[in-house]
Amino acid sequence: MASLALRGVRKEYGKLVALAGLDLEVGDGEFFVLLGPSGAGKTTTLKCVAGLEAPTRGRVEIGGRDVTDAEPNTRHVAMAFENYALYPQQTVYDNIAFPLRSPRYRVAPETAQVRIERVTETLGIGHLLRRMPRELSGGQRQRVALARVLVRPADVLLLDEPLSHLDAKLRAAMRAELKSLGDLQSTTSLYVTHDYQEALALGDRIAVLRAGELVQVGTREEIWHRPADAFVARSFGQPGINMVPGEVVDTPVGRGFRSRDGAIALPLGAVPVPPGTAVEAGLRPRDLVLGERPGMLAVTGRVYVVEPLGRQLEVTIDVGAQRIALVTPRERVEPDSLVTLSVPPARLILFDGTTGVRIPVGGGAPEAVVAADAVTEVAGRV
Ligand code: ADP
Repeated sequence: MASLALRGVRKEYGKLVALAGLDLEVGDGEFFVLLGPSGAGKTTTLKCVAGLEAPTRGRVEIGGRDVTDAEPNTRHVAMAFENYALYPQQTVYDNIAFPLRSPRYRVAPETAQVRIERVTETLGIGHLLRRMPRELSGGQRQRVALARVLVRPADVLLLDEPLSHLDAKLRAAMRAELKSLGDLQSTTSLYVTHDYQEALALGDRIAVLRAGELVQVGTREEIWHRPADAFVARSFGQPGINMVPGEVVDTPVGRGFRSRDGAIALPLGAVPVPPGTAVEAGLRPRDLVLGERPGMLAVTGRVYVVEPLGRQLEVTIDVGAQRIALVTPRERVEPDSLVTLSVPPARLILFDGTTGVRIPVGGGAPEAVVAADAVTEVAGRV
């Protein structure tokens, strides 16, 4: 077990800057998720930690020891790749046991067997141990490759999209299982994904990476309720956050938000920007409610489309020039009908219209409610 730190890690491939100077600290035993779109630099980060790539600049520390120039096999790091290779001539059991037999680990056979059984049961491949790799599906093979990494004693575990080859339902199940695996709870882990649900479900903390730069590091609640900017807000949630362009206005009851077409007006309370500032109002589909609600602001719109979303409905409503998505329990909603939707003012997230950076709004949003709902509901969509 060990903490992990990246200090100003920069990686250039010729002219291309894959990492622009990353500062990151992962605590001892923390499960840390790196989230970002393809090409953001996630895999490059893992490779710099593992020693498979040398940073152009900056340092990597494991357990307080500078390992920047250390050989990969002296770093006590285990890494699972998205691309997995199994030994075709060996059984599943032998494939998984292979690293434990290496003189480097010297794990007693009985201990090895216990570890292997626990990990393979967790990953749902315990019944496949006598099979050969060619007798497995792609998803099963990926889980065998993952098991091979998870059974190894390591100070730091690096996981690069380890569930990407599984279908959505299995992926959701595996996520829960992974989380329950004791070893993972106590091993410092850096987990790479482009899937926001995976990030919310697994991460003690999440770092959002864009084009080689860290945009935000925080808990799931911080990232969900107080995204650093519009990019982070858009990276989380399905359906995605509604972004309504408009401006800050003065109203008889204080500052407010008015959409560009005037169809949506919301109170803001204290905001640190003057009237006339171009902004975007972010409204999460799960925060909006069909019908009128006390304490919320009602706006009228016309239903554009209604789609099932797990046990709920996704309703898209045209409000003025805006197309707004909301998620609601199953009920009768007729396409093309006029409806009222209610917006809880405290759930509005405001962004600077030019830079996209979040502008704090007076009062702030209530915490720790939405993320779990967003994860489970969308997982049930398949
Ligand atoms: P991610 O894992 O977030 O998808 P990567 O870390 O794989 O992103 O890549 C970051 C950037 O670095 C991308 O633009 C990618 O094309 C580039 N890159 C990665 N590896 C190499 C390499 N070996 N040579 C040149 N460019 C690379």
